[in-house]
Amino acid sequence: MHYNRIIIGAGASGLYFAANCPEKSGLILEKGPSPGKKLLLSGSGQCNLTHGGSIKDFIMHYGQNGTKIRSALYKANNLLLMKFFQEHGVKLIQRADGKVFPESMKASQVLELLIKLSRENGWEMKTKSPVTSLTVQPDRKFCINETYTASQVIVACGGCSVPSTGSDGSIFPILESLGLEIAAPRPALVPVTVQQYPYGHLSGISFQDVCVRIDGHEMKGDLLLTHTAFSGPAVLNLSRYARPGSTLQIHYLPSFDVRAALLRTDGNRRGCAAFLAETFRLPKRFAEAVLAQVGIDSQKSAAALFRGEKSALTRILTCDTFSVSGTSGFGPAMATCGGVSLEDVNLKTFESKKYPGLFIIGETLDIDGDTGGYNLQFAFSSACLAANHS
Ligand SMILES: Cc1cc2nc3c(=O)[nH]c(=O)nc-3n(C[C@H](O)[C@H](O)[C@H](O)COP(=O)(O)OP(=O)(O)OC[C@H]3O[C@@H](n4cnc5c(N)ncnc54)[C@H](O)[C@@H]3O)c2cc1C
Repeated sequence: MHYNRIIIGAGASGLYFAANCPEKSGLILEKGPSPGKKLLLSGSGQCNLTHGGSIKDFIMHYGQNGTKIRSALYKANNLLLMKFFQEHGVKLIQRADGKVFPESMKASQVLELLIKLSRENGWEMKTKSPVTSLTVQPDRKFCINETYTASQVIVACGGCSVPSTGSDGSIFPILESLGLEIAAPRPALVPVTVQQYPYGHLSGISFQDVCVRIDGHEMKGDLLLTHTAFSGPAVLNLSRYARPGSTLQIHYLPSFDVRAALLRTDGNRRGCAAFLAETFRLPKRFAEAVLAQVGIDSQKSAAALFRGEKSALTRILTCDTFSVSGTSGFGPAMATCGGVSLEDVNLKTFESKKYPGLFIIGETLDIDGDTGGYNLQFAFSSACLAANHS
């Protein structure tokens, strides 16, 4: 069976490509039983589809590869994306933190629109159709699963995060066998695990505006303690840098002069835990855990703290240091670090340099964004540019 175009993967980028491709229809092959499973999960089911800030500020939200996609983001930018959805009847709202959602707060509204537009544009979709082979014939047409041929193939298979959604990385060995370079996929936007994690019993406690550092990369934001790992936006956004042996440091109180406050304990008869909790507005259970780490009785009067004990407390509160053991893995990860090398595609069209007619878009590429709508924006931007040039 021959099609002019075949899209592999009916997720955010594949469907956006089809929705933006009138008169260029073809076939969509989707591995799962239904399209857009991950899109439905996005933003806790509410779909944070982009960010409302200046597109110039987007670049720093994609780690070290951000500058490489600058022109793609500028050309298919967030304002054009918002215009697209609004013109098609999806009203949007922008929260105070800049995150943009459908006003309905339903990811299903976004998915339904993309499916409807794809159908109206004449695209046929086959679900439960995993692509297990992709080869290039001597006439330069592509052959899929030894069943379909196509003049153009759009790879929109996502990465490896939450494999139960269908994005399980199964496309990477297939692309590798074509000679494309794949940066080894790793979980991103994922909790970070450390050696000797001391806060498992404090699961659920969160902190606002802490300063987290992983191997010199720094991020200010909220932090969440879980049973097994550090989480929350500040850690999730830095997790792309977390490798076994990396150093994770947390300053819980960047807006306090901790050392100075601890020097002013003279005459203070409160117990140390109550003193720390009140002075630094910390959860008391966390204060107790910090004291336990340096061997101080939480009932001991603050006035009786020794200089060495104050130094030890200052160190933990301003520079709690851990050796990273890894991350919580692809299961809970919201994105994938790694994928098809950006050097292998023309970043204005997302066409393969090696195989004209082969387009690679979305999270299959070696790009991952911070939380805040940056991943879906890239999925949509790359799909839009590929659709314009296919
Ligand atoms: C829980 C969660 C919440 C998120 N929330 C947000 C958010 O609010 N904002 C944001 O910007 N980003 C969010 N993301 C990230 C965002 O959803 C992804 O970056 C985005 O969906 C990537 O789009 P994609 O088209 O590249 O891949 P996907 O949306 O993952 O789609 C890929 C599709 O390809 C199919 N496929 C894979 N392999 C094959 C194959 N071999 N053959 C056929 N089909 C195949 C898959 O089944 C899947 O349907 C979230 C991610 C998760 C997991």
